[in-house]
Amino acid sequence: MKSTATWIAALALVGSATWIGIAQSARLDDRALRGAWRSGQWVTYGNDLAERRFSPLDQITAANVNRLGLAWTYVAGTGGGNQEATPLVWNGTLYGITNWSIVFAVDARDGRERWRYDPQVDRAFATAGQNRGICCGVVNRGIALYGDSVIAPVIDGRLVALDAASGRRRWSTRILPEDSTGYSITMAPRIANGKAIIGVAGGEFTPHRGFFVAIDVGTGRELWRFYTVPGDPSKPFENPALAAAAKTWKGEWWKYGGGGSLWDGISYDPDTNLIYVGTGNGVPWPGILRGSEGYDNLYVSSILAVNADTGRLAWHYQAVPGDSWDIDTVQQLILADVTIAGRERKVLMQASKGGFLYVLDRVTGQFISATPFAPLNWASGHDPKTGRPVINSEAYYTTTQPAVISPAAGGAANWAAKAYSPNTAMMYVPVSGFSSRTYVAIPVDLVDGRSVQNNGTPRGNQVPPGTPPPVTPPYIGPSRDGRGGFLIAFDPATHTERWRVQGGGGAGGGVVATASNLLFQVVGDGRLRALKAEDGTVLWEVQTGQRGLGPPITYQVDGRQQISFMAGAGRTGGGGLLPMVYTFTLDARMPMPANP
Ligand code: CA
Repeated sequence: MKSTATWIAALALVGSATWIGIAQSARLDDRALRGAWRSGQWVTYGNDLAERRFSPLDQITAANVNRLGLAWTYVAGTGGGNQEATPLVWNGTLYGITNWSIVFAVDARDGRERWRYDPQVDRAFATAGQNRGICCGVVNRGIALYGDSVIAPVIDGRLVALDAASGRRRWSTRILPEDSTGYSITMAPRIANGKAIIGVAGGEFTPHRGFFVAIDVGTGRELWRFYTVPGDPSKPFENPALAAAAKTWKGEWWKYGGGGSLWDGISYDPDTNLIYVGTGNGVPWPGILRGSEGYDNLYVSSILAVNADTGRLAWHYQAVPGDSWDIDTVQQLILADVTIAGRERKVLMQASKGGFLYVLDRVTGQFISATPFAPLNWASGHDPKTGRPVINSEAYYTTTQPAVISPAAGGAANWAAKAYSPNTAMMYVPVSGFSSRTYVAIPVDLVDGRSVQNNGTPRGNQVPPGTPPPVTPPYIGPSRDGRGGFLIAFDPATHTERWRVQGGGGAGGGVVATASNLLFQVVGDGRLRALKAEDGTVLWEVQTGQRGLGPPITYQVDGRQQISFMAGAGRTGGGGLLPMVYTFTLDARMPMPANP
């Protein structure tokens, strides 16, 4: 850590062609976090608070991208799941997190290790019984920087602050009680006005009641907590938004938790002081088992706008009323200013697991558009005024009537990073091709308040013998012929897809956009590639031989633009290669590592 460097002045040419000088303090305060993306570092999860994953750097261009080569690698750990984390770069140091929530800091110039921090997660956490653990791998998606601390989530339910220079622990706060079952923390914390915001995952287990918290970054103290679904109505509701939400539930939902987990999307607009949060499916999955079929079940599968200081709800948009299909609405929430029908709109954009790309007014929550980008059949469209989806009646499966629903629970878009370029005014989304799953409701038994059996649907898509044939609601969206994954370019002003190229997918890697109109995309089959942002022409690619790849970042260190990402599920993941950070820059010539 260059702790003696109090001020580092960085200049960057931004789109408006004005030179903006960003004085980069040795401490990252709220003001620094807001402008830091212009400095060509990468100090927040989505590169800026709007989570656009757009970099002002332009050293690597269409003309020289074929000179890219591997500069260094760093073995991040021994694996145990995908590398889903976005690294951060600040003052010449690259910070990352790998399986079992192990945090590391390396020199961004050569990958030399500065420190590692292991929170000593009990390895039984992931495996001890089906309902104590995690649904989708021992993964973490990222960390945050604030002041001179690294704020790191621990998968077993802690949030810790580490000294960014030494890795020494400053505080540790339990978000989840030590004995909680079926909950985990997989998402990256985000900073909003001096607070770390983080939510809990686990919507695939019963019971589960989702929530997110604001933690004071200086002390680790919890400032407020927002439950995403109402609790037992015989007790006082935690806030007026939950009293309102309770009117959209029936039955004894609180015994099952209700759902509404968090595991990916949060963004922050300092102008409105609103945090935007996406929530997951209802729990158990079938609404009929919550006793709530036909009810909206607020705030499952919703986008919520919450005041950063008070934790009070400003507005909500429910993308999937009563979500019974694990659609989730948790994906990346990108904020941008876009001219739509001749009017400048402050919008929020999300490509969801359910296959719609939503554009909302982020100040008011007003619905602007929802465009299908993958073949889907749970809904037939949206009311253009209210934005409410028209859910197909055949989609409501029961204990005796199965339904085939697309996309499958893996989703049309998942955690793979999306990007928005203000240069091209397009959003870039890695999407999956056609997928489907047969749903049938299986009653959930609760013993001592916990499910002993299932989450209301058959595990592994195994429909019990004797189940009647399923119904398949009619499809909308692109052709079902397209298997595998794609990268698509979406124009929010006209809500149309501008181009689509093969390669991508909802779970794995992701994309970053640069000022030189390049896209760097990490594809789940092991490739890093560069494409033209205007039309998707593939200009360059390299195969790492890895699986379980995380989102790419680009940043400048010692005057060189670099691209880094994490990859490798490790020996337990079947891929063989250990998890590594890969870093590419122009004219570097390191050979691609085999199994180290
Ligand atoms: Ca889910």
